Amino acid sequence: MDITTAALSPRALSLAQALVRINTVSANSNLELIHLARDELSRLGVVSRLTYNAEKTKANLFATLGEGKPAGVILSGHTDTVPWDGQDWSDDPLSGSVRDGRLYARGSADMKSFIAIALAHAGDFLASKAPFAIHLAFSYDEEIGCFGVKELIADMRDAGVAPLACIVGEPTSMVPAIAHKGVYRYKCCVRGKEAHSSLTPRSVNAIEMAARVVGKLRDMAETFEREEPRYPGFDVPFSTASVGQFHGGIADNVVPRDAEFRYEFRDLPTADAGRMQQEVIAHARSLEPAMKAVAPEAGFSFETICEIPSFLGSAGDAVTRLAQRLSGERGTTLVAFGTEAGIFKNSGIPTVVCGPGSINQAHQPDEYVSLEQLARCEAFMRGLAAAREIG
Ligand SMILES: [Zn+2]
Repeated sequence: MDITTAALSPRALSLAQALVRINTVSANSNLELIHLARDELSRLGVVSRLTYNAEKTKANLFATLGEGKPAGVILSGHTDTVPWDGQDWSDDPLSGSVRDGRLYARGSADMKSFIAIALAHAGDFLASKAPFAIHLAFSYDEEIGCFGVKELIADMRDAGVAPLACIVGEPTSMVPAIAHKGVYRYKCCVRGKEAHSSLTPRSVNAIEMAARVVGKLRDMAETFEREEPRYPGFDVPFSTASVGQFHGGIADNVVPRDAEFRYEFRDLPTADAGRMQQEVIAHARSLEPAMKAVAPEAGFSFETICEIPSFLGSAGDAVTRLAQRLSGERGTTLVAFGTEAGIFKNSGIPTVVCGPGSINQAHQPDEYVSLEQLARCEAFMRGLAAAREIG
């Protein structure tokens, strides 16, 4: 079969349209989409495992196609999307309309189409003669920090499932991706002591103390750029640090009591964001004795926003070769964005990232995926159902 010119099936397209028409912005419930997937599978006699968030407003879905086979390959996708507030769309972001050979909607590229095409081929996976099962793993809250998938993996372990491999269907234009950086975000709150600005020695200026830590972050970023061993293939081949938000102060003549800022590290797969964060905390702690000498309550507190580990697979992994074979691609790539791949990999499952569409359209107004990419993804799924071995 010619992988690039295979036609897209009406069923795969209509499932993709059905999924993108459900609003699953991360702030919302994803249950309508999860129930749709669960119902599709239950029509085939497949029972899904659902794991919920604490409020029971969102769920992950995990299902095994080929129950009784010793182990399997995970097809992983997140069900949530980023919002579109303030973006200039030429059509309703939930339209799922097809124009000029493209499916337009929020989530069309990132990444409901992969989920839809996997679902559309659930029957083929069930009927597969392969010695391995196919697991579907659909998560919530990926876009805001990869929170859902951790519950999904824990539940999978509880159920005694030990997958052989994982394919994360984030948009790579169907080129297998074997590495990405991590994304580690933190909030730092600085408590000082307020005073009239004519009496600064009696105060602890929270903004100024915060600025010293912000300066430390900038120094670290410059050190990464100057000294870190390069990792070729990334647009920025070294780790980065960046302060994204800063708030503080109430008036020109009041020494501020409070300041708060948020920052992130994007660490290379060969770097260690945990150590970076320890370095920031150590710097903050070194400033505290002088602050506390004026006001014992003064100091720094840190909060973790998200910790998405970097991902480092291998061109030699069987799952990478499988993805190459099924996508008709000889090479591999690296991607600039964070995914759930590092979390699967760190739990001991060889992983590759490969899915339809381009990250260039993700999170953008008029997000789309080309029908040609969807057809390639469908050929990939058909090939997987027909595969007899991994690698
Ligand atoms: Zn995504």
